[in-house]
Amino acid sequence: MRVMEGVFLIGGAGISHDADCCIYLVDAGGSLVLIDSGVGVDTEKIVKNVRDAGYNPKDIEYLIGTHKHIDHIGGNRFFKDSFNCKVIMHKLDAEAVESGDQLTTGAQLYGVKLRPCKVDMKISQTTSLTVGQLTFMLLHTPGHTPGSISVLLEKEGKRILFGQDVHGPIEPSWGSDVNQYCKSMKLLLSLNADILCEGHFGIYTSPEKVKAYIERYMQIYGCK
Ligand SMILES: [Zn+2]
Ligand SMILES: [Zn+2]
Repeated sequence: MRVMEGVFLIGGAGISHDADCCIYLVDAGGSLVLIDSGVGVDTEKIVKNVRDAGYNPKDIEYLIGTHKHIDHIGGNRFFKDSFNCKVIMHKLDAEAVESGDQLTTGAQLYGVKLRPCKVDMKISQTTSLTVGQLTFMLLHTPGHTPGSISVLLEKEGKRILFGQDVHGPIEPSWGSDVNQYCKSMKLLLSLNADILCEGHFGIYTSPEKVKAYIERYMQIYGCK
């Protein structure tokens, strides 16, 4: 599914495995960037979707893991081993993926086994990543997990926000922090994104819809 020129939704419930988060592919002009890798059960379907979008999965240069939950990073090891891509995560969530932590990644809850995966680039603060002709802003947006990141991309005059799990949940036993979440959502609002690519609930395609979506969850979680 095409979000816009060079940006695709290639995984998620009904598209790949039903436990997968929304997985996005960005064409940076030769090199590809994958945002999240799904639960890791039906990775071949994701690879097929990359091919069906007209790309060679061998061109995936970076895999950005938005946070440590299994439905987002379960396929990391497969993509790294298969296509030699560099995995990027925030350092606060990277450790659980590198050590194969079955608990805080939610792997046990999902009934799948997390294969540990090395993280090549651990960011500790907001960082920009230039790939081909594009610059990705990797924003530290803790709350859902301590090391959650959101990705902002400007392309053809549009600000595309890969906010991933904007909807939460905010579950303290999974390391969520509501105060951090509220602060992070304020940051996302301040970006005035034109398009929001969410982690499970699809794509919002106008600044008004993006704002309304984020504000709705801020209200649900009692942000002031
Ligand atoms: Zn999550
Ligand atoms: Zn999720």
